[in-house]
Amino acid sequence: MFLECFPPLEPRWRPVAESRLRADLCNDRIVLRGKVDLTVGRADGLRAGKVLLDLKTGGFATSHRDDLRFYALIETLRIGVPPRLLASYYLDGGRLQDETVSVAVLQTALERVVQGAEAIVSLRHEGRPPVLKPGAACRWCPIHDECDVGRQWLADRADEDGW
Ligand code: SF4
Repeated sequence: MFLECFPPLEPRWRPVAESRLRADLCNDRIVLRGKVDLTVGRADGLRAGKVLLDLKTGGFATSHRDDLRFYALIETLRIGVPPRLLASYYLDGGRLQDETVSVAVLQTALERVVQGAEAIVSLRHEGRPPVLKPGAACRWCPIHDECDVGRQWLADRADEDGW
């Protein structure tokens, strides 16, 4: 599907498949990491130039955009220059959903990371009880057969959407 939808990648675009990203913070006690399906271009000095692209099957989910914003944050921490564009490419429909990287995008990703870290700390060390929050991820959850909340959520969606 990718080959059908995309022009051949030229070496001068500096394409990198499955590009790993990592940022070690707080004396290596916190590690942010991710893997982008495809990157194209690169920064020119302090000028943003890289495009991060994830290939997706199925439909849009807000987590796809959140993932790319997270990768943009790691890239910025890693080399000091953000990527210029983020894009999810939906192979089934041949549709591109892109977003220009801005300070607000990076700020949003940063706040999400902080909220995630706070949630981990409160769950593991402060006795906060975990709460099941069903969503699209229930479809792939390895324990969804045993999870009444997730199964009910999926059943409700099936009724509404005809899944
Ligand atoms: S199936 Fe249950 S445990 Fe899995 S993601 Fe859904 S709500 Fe969470």
